[in-house]
Amino acid sequence: MYNEDTIAAISTPHGTGGIGIIRISGDKAFNIAGDLFYGRKKFSDIKSHTISFGKIINPENGQTVDEVLVTKMEKPKTFTREDVVEISCHGGITVLKNILELVTKNGARIAEPGEFTKRAFLNGRIDLSQAEAVIDLINSKTSESSRAALDQLEGKLSSKLKSVRNSLIEILAHIEVTVDYPEHDIEEITGQEIYTELIKIKEKLEGVIKGFEKGRIIREGIDAVIIGRPNVGKSSLLNELSGKNRAIVTDIPGTTRDIIEEYVNMDGIPVRILDTAGIRETEDVVERIGVEKTHSAIEVADLIIMMIDASMGIDREDASILNKIVDKKVIVVINKIDLVQEEEINRIERFLEEKKHIKTSLKEDIGVEELGKIIKELFLKGEVTANNEVLLTNIRHKNLIDKALSSINDALGAQENSMPLDLITIDITNAADYLGQITGESVSDDVIHEIFKRFCLGK
Ligand code: GDP
Repeated sequence: MYNEDTIAAISTPHGTGGIGIIRISGDKAFNIAGDLFYGRKKFSDIKSHTISFGKIINPENGQTVDEVLVTKMEKPKTFTREDVVEISCHGGITVLKNILELVTKNGARIAEPGEFTKRAFLNGRIDLSQAEAVIDLINSKTSESSRAALDQLEGKLSSKLKSVRNSLIEILAHIEVTVDYPEHDIEEITGQEIYTELIKIKEKLEGVIKGFEKGRIIREGIDAVIIGRPNVGKSSLLNELSGKNRAIVTDIPGTTRDIIEEYVNMDGIPVRILDTAGIRETEDVVERIGVEKTHSAIEVADLIIMMIDASMGIDREDASILNKIVDKKVIVVINKIDLVQEEEINRIERFLEEKKHIKTSLKEDIGVEELGKIIKELFLKGEVTANNEVLLTNIRHKNLIDKALSSINDALGAQENSMPLDLITIDITNAADYLGQITGESVSDDVIHEIFKRFCLGK
């Protein structure tokens, strides 16, 4: 049923661009293009997987809409496994809309967000986790996160999980045979074999789970908060890191009144930075709101960047704040080192003891690059991705693997208590089912709908 209609959408971002692309997929794609495209060759004579120059002409009035390049791609070697036509035209929004309108008038329907990818999934070209990787790839914030998404798109995670799921299904078959022939008295031997096999599966899944924290950090990044007394250089640091002038930098203490969010790429880790008003007791109402926000930001942040003004030293308040955040990941930035002598800095460093810290002069552009290195060390133990590692980045996948593991643990527990074999089949079936929901082999329409809803139009 799914393949009955032909879909079309503008696949390039909305707005003006050098070129724009309209994608059509489905059985009528070639007919529609044939009705609208006029080139040196008739559309039907164009070879598959080639690009041809020509015009799009409105069949109703014979007027040229635009000069275009069309790409003809015959199924099944296409993204959706259906006939696909891509029309590259000039990137004005009116041109794109006009062509899309002609395409829909001639038999296509406007695609829903993610529908091309959904068809790729439903037609078996990619599995569900690969489809999800397409969204991740589009949304990735750093080249490291796009690499993790690409690995998933290429099927590294899928093939690992599929092989685990197949082992579970083999175990089920094994149990069935055993239970069907009780007279052979092989239940005990089989039980032992299955136990060993389940332990292996459990270890494999635990290995995948282990990579999740790292995968999550690479995909979603971390939240960091910059704190410190007024005027230590918080806004200057944020500006330096983001390379933009978003936060207001002034000499008047207390002017950063609200929390301003920025994403910066720190050595491959996307870091969302909340710039905050200085932590200090205040009478100013507007500023107090900012200070309250700072306290809640500290609670949720993965990382606290605590700034100290080298020329002012560490006062009692700084020391008490440092004491309050001992359980957090903290990097202390000793700023304004241009203003003081070496001994001053040494004294502060001695006070900080083992605490991770860097020394900077934002004014003279010294020391900031160390920050990324320490963040990487703190969160990923120094490396961003190891080769050939399957990185689990998606929380949906993580939750399902957790559930599968818990079912396997139930099965193992039942065996340890010498339960009859056929009793554990339900746990093993559940585990296989959970894994199947990741790749899409056993997943409900609702879940599929939810997943594809998150796509952008035209993908
Ligand atoms: P915030 O109140 O913590 O956000 O501090 P700002 O970033 O607004 O900086 C306060 C003042 O300190 C500004 O005039 C900055 O130019 C200055 N400043 C920031 N970093 C340095 C530094 O490393 N050395 C010197 N000498 N001045 C700095």
